[in-house]
Amino acid sequence: MTGEDCIFCKIVAGELPAEKVAEDEHTIAFMDLNPWTRGHSLVIPRNHSRNLYEVDPEDLRHTAVSAQRLAERMRDRLGCDGVNLLNSCEPAAWQTVFHLHLHVIPRYEGDPLRLPGQPQRPEEGELARVAAELRA
Ligand code: 5GP
Ligand code: ZN
Repeated sequence: MTGEDCIFCKIVAGELPAEKVAEDEHTIAFMDLNPWTRGHSLVIPRNHSRNLYEVDPEDLRHTAVSAQRLAERMRDRLGCDGVNLLNSCEPAAWQTVFHLHLHVIPRYEGDPLRLPGQPQRPEEGELARVAAELRA
């Protein structure tokens, strides 16, 4: 997909509405349409890139720093007790909008949100094997 067909590029261009919460030269933050918790927002670089594989490292850095600022604001204004940062890269990892974004999800003590991951006990030697593949 090019930037031209991209709904988040349209939000950057002001061609689609969004509840913006912050913006700077490089990034925009706005409310997720379908929030997982109160305040769930997305931070995106103004420049189009598909996802983590393709984003320019400088755009990623600006986006991460904006997410940090927004997390602090969520703590101070919404009174959340913590924050999850989430990025999905490719459909296998749940990506549905193909313009890099960080989810900034405020968390509240006792909130009902549960992530679907289940920690697994690895087979004997598996951690060393996969570490060797990653190092190679
Ligand atoms: P992904 O599944 O790619 O990690 O996240 C995409 C997110 O974008 C979803 O949480 C979805 O609710 C949100 N979303 C999809 N379309 C729009 C839109 O037009 N406006 C806003 N504000 N959020 C959107
Ligand atoms: Zn885009």
